[in-house]
Amino acid sequence: MTRSRGKYWDEELETMSRGKLEQLQLELLKQELLFSYEKSPYYRMVFDKAGLNPKKVKNLTDIRSFPFTNKKVERDRQLAVPDMGDMVAVPEEEVVFVSASSGSTGTPTLSPFTARDFDEWQDVEARLFWSMGMRPKDRYCHALNFTLFVGGPDVMGAQKVGAMCIWAGAIPSERLLFILKQFKPTITWTTPSYAWYLGETAQKEGIDPAKDLAINKIIVAGEPGGSIKSTREAIETLWDAKVYDFYGLSDTFGANAGMCIEQDGLHLSEDHNLLEVLDPETHEPVSEGERGEMVLTTLKKRARPMIRFRTGDIVTVNKERCRCGRTHARINILGRIDDMLIITGVNVFPGDIEKVVRGTKELTGEYQIVVYHEKHLDKFDVEVEKKEGIDIDDKSLAETVRGKIKSLLGVSPRVRILKENSLERATHKAKRVIDKREKVWSE
Ligand SMILES: [Zn+2]
Repeated sequence: MTRSRGKYWDEELETMSRGKLEQLQLELLKQELLFSYEKSPYYRMVFDKAGLNPKKVKNLTDIRSFPFTNKKVERDRQLAVPDMGDMVAVPEEEVVFVSASSGSTGTPTLSPFTARDFDEWQDVEARLFWSMGMRPKDRYCHALNFTLFVGGPDVMGAQKVGAMCIWAGAIPSERLLFILKQFKPTITWTTPSYAWYLGETAQKEGIDPAKDLAINKIIVAGEPGGSIKSTREAIETLWDAKVYDFYGLSDTFGANAGMCIEQDGLHLSEDHNLLEVLDPETHEPVSEGERGEMVLTTLKKRARPMIRFRTGDIVTVNKERCRCGRTHARINILGRIDDMLIITGVNVFPGDIEKVVRGTKELTGEYQIVVYHEKHLDKFDVEVEKKEGIDIDDKSLAETVRGKIKSLLGVSPRVRILKENSLERATHKAKRVIDKREKVWSE
């Protein structure tokens, strides 16, 4: 490393006043919009069609007149103009890396990076790792898939920090446990449900993850669990480690936001991302602290700028300076719009149910939501597991859980108590919702 670092990876950038930060964002936004217009055939076409001139942008709020992009636009443009689509803004010789994400509807979408994009991505990754407390003395075990997945190269951010890195990749849990025993890494990264599964698997093999392993930090991403306090605390107790939530979006960058040691929301790297939080129906901005869809505009991305990308993630945002001293906005991720259930007019996220389940000590923490139609109404059952050896009858336990859900959400599901280990354990992303309703329409 060329300079010594203290509490921050880049103190000036991370702690500048909101006013200065927004000034910086405005300059970057103007450049990004102009670059997109001049270099990307797609953006030129849609800006012209909407009568938009990037040179006339004067305020950050001017972004609101620009059209949205989303996964579908990305996929459609890629199919219309093979191989990488006409949103791309650089000649192919400048592209040094592509990741691909499959999504749920088939055709993988590609995400290209120039050499500069890639370096900046890893610098932000290092910044986020640093804010979670990773230091050169740490040993870091990267247990994410390296094949096409944008999370793979994030290990290079840890190397940039100076940690000793173990490129484990997605390997069977017994081999991963071997690495954790043999190399004694202090930090690892998985999904929240896998962190739970791995800890339980270790216990079955006679290893106490809290005492026999050296892990003291677990980074999690890919599911909302990392932002749900009760889930985080359950994993923390199992491992005697701190859990930090992380957010990366293959369509834009791969390292967008991460929790600092205060664990109070995820700092979004606002020098790379312009954030909007919008009502998903009306597309109007919601007030700070209210739930809305996160829409991101890249501020520096060259290979494929993303202007007003609808992430499909429901978040709340907090722009107050964090206790850690950083000023970049903090997001709380509540779930995917696609996962949101509307039950008799109430928005229900699996994460809301998880909050109750993980916060009830008589339960194992596993759960499943079954949605169905009855007498023209949408209803749902919540299936949970009672821990073995707990001395409480199923009926009163079900009533307790139902009561907690009712007071949190205002809806009253039927709660079914199952025996420990009745529900399937997830090794990657957990499937929490079984929807038995007939589909009226589908995409
Ligand atoms: Zn902070």
